[in-house]
Amino acid sequence: MKIKSAEFVVSNSDVAKCPKTKLPEYAFIGRSNVGKSSLINMLTSRKSLAKTSGRPGKTQLINHFLINKNWHLVDLPGYGYARVSKSSKKVFQKFITQYFGLREQLVTAFVLVDIRHKPQPIDLEFMQWLGENGIPFSIIFTKADKLKPKAIDKHVNDYKNILLETWEEMPNYFITSSSKDIGKDDVLNYIGELNEN
Ligand code: GDP
Repeated sequence: MKIKSAEFVVSNSDVAKCPKTKLPEYAFIGRSNVGKSSLINMLTSRKSLAKTSGRPGKTQLINHFLINKNWHLVDLPGYGYARVSKSSKKVFQKFITQYFGLREQLVTAFVLVDIRHKPQPIDLEFMQWLGENGIPFSIIFTKADKLKPKAIDKHVNDYKNILLETWEEMPNYFITSSSKDIGKDDVLNYIGELNEN
């Protein structure tokens, strides 16, 4: 799929105020600083559609973007930033629970993880939560330019080994680098295929 148009629609902190259309939507979520804004900019070929933060934890809003006039790309707040207070963690949890509970238009979530790190409890717990709640998701490994191919294989295998302890199969996954424009077509073609079904 090629992205011909990408427009910002709305940012808000209230799931009830998200666009009321029935357009299919795809949500991007991950730890703060995982490279989510960079990935969204790469996918849409826009330099700053999603703001690259430098200030982790600041984007606590649900951002809807309309793509090709027929689907929504949703930029969800980053989780797990160590410096946010307990009360804002609670607000985040409520927010996310509501988002995933209410958005029937959601086709799939993309959980972003930094390929350089060993599987982190917070990411695994979040995937577990999605699975328990019947929310389809794929994993997007980010920053692949930072590792050699062998190390990439090893880190992906670490994930597989851990996930297969509780899951029957490894979720769909993508290896990406926004700096090197890697993985863009894989993710977009996947969304394109889902949109056709
Ligand atoms: P967000 O907080 O998840 O939206 O992350 P950002 O997109 O703002 O990126 C966080 C940091 O990681 C920034 O310093 C980016 O330049 C860097 N970054 C993002 N994507 C990549 C990538 O693919 N490769 C490398 N080497 N750095 C990246």
